[in-house]
Amino acid sequence: MTASDRLIQGMAGSGDFRILAAQTTNTVETARQLLDLSPVAADALGRALTGSLLLARLLDKDVRNQYVTLRFQGDGPLGIVIAEGNIAGHARGFVGNPIPQDPTLDVPRAIGPGVLTVIRGTPPEGKPYTSAVMLEGGGVAQELTRYLAKSEQIASAVLLGVLNRRDGVAAAGGIVIQAFPHASEDALATLEARIKEAPPLSTLIEKMPIEAVVAQVLHGLDYKQIDSSFDVPLSYTCTCSRERALAPIALFPADDLQEMIRQGGSDVVCQFCGRKYTFSSEDLLALTAKHEA
Ligand SMILES: [Zn+2]
Repeated sequence: MTASDRLIQGMAGSGDFRILAAQTTNTVETARQLLDLSPVAADALGRALTGSLLLARLLDKDVRNQYVTLRFQGDGPLGIVIAEGNIAGHARGFVGNPIPQDPTLDVPRAIGPGVLTVIRGTPPEGKPYTSAVMLEGGGVAQELTRYLAKSEQIASAVLLGVLNRRDGVAAAGGIVIQAFPHASEDALATLEARIKEAPPLSTLIEKMPIEAVVAQVLHGLDYKQIDSSFDVPLSYTCTCSRERALAPIALFPADDLQEMIRQGGSDVVCQFCGRKYTFSSEDLLALTAKHEA
């Protein structure tokens, strides 16, 4: 059993950099099992889930209840890839076509060119903030780095990784390094060199706790955890419910509802976790009664 998933934060370069880092191995393995993901789909969604959890924390100014939804709409074989993460450490996701035919695909080709839409908000208040950037084929981490620079004016480096083994996801996680405007040229150059020479992130995560991974990647940059008691547990958690599953059915035209009632009811399967909600004819009749009321 792998150590529990969690998110930590720290500083480096004498205050030049803010660091957020997450181990998401179990979260991604849960996604793989629930959504029956092929290795490349687990890789793509695992990176996206990790990114959504890190961005939810990075972009929340008040640290309340922000969520971030990442929608990768590319024309690659995976189809749409959606990841939602929130500041409480819950994430869930979806892949349009989780088992593409070509087993040699890497993540950039599997997603393909298209658009990345980022939605973030702090419910229940306010309207969510939505922005979109073109997918340029560099992979999930690079697309998120560009989004942060263009839409949030945050200079950052994003590292993400998923390690698939024969029996599932062996390691997954990510690091976001935010460079503050006062960061020195020297510190930026050192950081760039460290990132270039670092071994693949997921192979480090497989071997050591996330704080040791960060310390190794940023060696010589005086990495410190801000508060070692700061530890957000992360998990794959779906927010679906019977009530929410029924809501879209209530919007169906009356004829369609009548047809479902004639057929003895209807099942709704949650696309994020596969849970099945069964609605009987009686349940649906109650809905039409509400319609007419
Ligand atoms: Zn669900």
